[in-house]
Amino acid sequence: MEKTHIDYAHELDLALRPDSTVPIIGKEYGYFSGPGVPLFSVGGGYMRQALQQILVGFHARRGYYIVETPTIASAELFKLSGHLDFYRENMYIFQIEDREFAIKPMNCPYHLLIFVSHLARYRGKVRFPFKIFEMGRVHRYEPSGSLHGLLRVRGFTQDDAHIVVKEGDLEKTVMEVFDEMRSIMSDLFLIPLEKGTIRIRASLSSKEKIGEHYMGTVEEWEAAEGVIERISSKIAEKHGIGSTRGIGEAAFYGPKIDVLMSLKGSGGVKEWQMGTIQFDFNLPRRFGIYEMVREIFGDVRIFVIHRALIGSIERFLGGYLEHYKGRLPFVLAPLQVALISIKTGGEIDAAIDDLTVKIQRGLISMGIRAGLRETSKTSLTGDVRAIESTVKPPIIIYIGEREVKERTLSLSIYDHNLGKRRNLTISYGNAEDMMKAIAEIIEKEEEGARRLAGSAPRIPADLSHLL
Ligand code: ZN
Repeated sequence: MEKTHIDYAHELDLALRPDSTVPIIGKEYGYFSGPGVPLFSVGGGYMRQALQQILVGFHARRGYYIVETPTIASAELFKLSGHLDFYRENMYIFQIEDREFAIKPMNCPYHLLIFVSHLARYRGKVRFPFKIFEMGRVHRYEPSGSLHGLLRVRGFTQDDAHIVVKEGDLEKTVMEVFDEMRSIMSDLFLIPLEKGTIRIRASLSSKEKIGEHYMGTVEEWEAAEGVIERISSKIAEKHGIGSTRGIGEAAFYGPKIDVLMSLKGSGGVKEWQMGTIQFDFNLPRRFGIYEMVREIFGDVRIFVIHRALIGSIERFLGGYLEHYKGRLPFVLAPLQVALISIKTGGEIDAAIDDLTVKIQRGLISMGIRAGLRETSKTSLTGDVRAIESTVKPPIIIYIGEREVKERTLSLSIYDHNLGKRRNLTISYGNAEDMMKAIAEIIEKEEEGARRLAGSAPRIPADLSHLL
């Protein structure tokens, strides 16, 4: 049977298989974490942390402020934002003492609260576009029947940002956001974005539901939808990709531009909604932002944009794992380098051990997640096949008799563009040269992340248990 993203996530140790049983206790893991609440495992911890470091660096370098907001808030906040009236059936609401609270289904109310406090405190010093970013974990109600692995969940993390922009800079800012999304997809995830892989959709309201499903007046919606349609055809033209319209696909607070990506999964090629750029004329009004801006800056019209480049980390990861059959880019892979020492049973084994340990220590001190596996010439092929069909380390280094005697290293590096491994042999003089050569190969794998974030995440670990 073809593997699903749940199989890949399990093999890479990214997330617990919800249908596996807790030993002795006898109940499934998913029973304890709850349906729709994926539990990331050790490998998933490294992957998420590395992703977060890249995204934080990326956004900070592009002028976004970085924030982190609480999971629960007084229901008053969501009353003010309109979520309680227009989004209530998707929210988890509960009582603490005599006050109603809710788990945040979106990060926006908090981000706007931060913007308002910033504006009240720093007034004329506030610069536009004002951009605020968070890896924000949100929870939304989904009926049990619709839940599926990482693809349809009740708790997920968004690469979420809100931008307050002056009308004159609106188009330029939206175009920039689309460029940002392209950079993340190509430099981090190594996805070639071309016609056929992605297209965009102008997601609009259905007119008869304005006031009921959609907050605001028909005039406001028409004006905003005009802008959305104009910009989305500009993006499509500039990047040579297709565009479409989706009636009834808008958010309750405004129309949006959604990025649809075609990924091949266990059920064939499917189109996924990934990044999104959304307009909002409701939240700024509800938070009194228009008046404050006018009072401080005079006759200035501002827009609030919600945007996510990846969308939901969980859903994106699920689609990605299926499309690339569990091959994560080097910077995000839990196990980045596998060391395979090929023992002979003879005297040379001591030297093989020595060299292997030296390389492993060197890698870990460089901040790399490495693992060590001993094998013999006869079991080598089978062992490597097993590793390739489960953990899939982007780099494998072989250390055997020949390598020790000839002072060479045999490496195998997975190439995302080719969709297969490249083999490489390097010769070295002394141990120092050898580590330098390995470091150079690793730095090459990290180039994309460095271009995006200024540095590549280095979170070391000995993950030999995966091999
Ligand atoms: Zn938002």
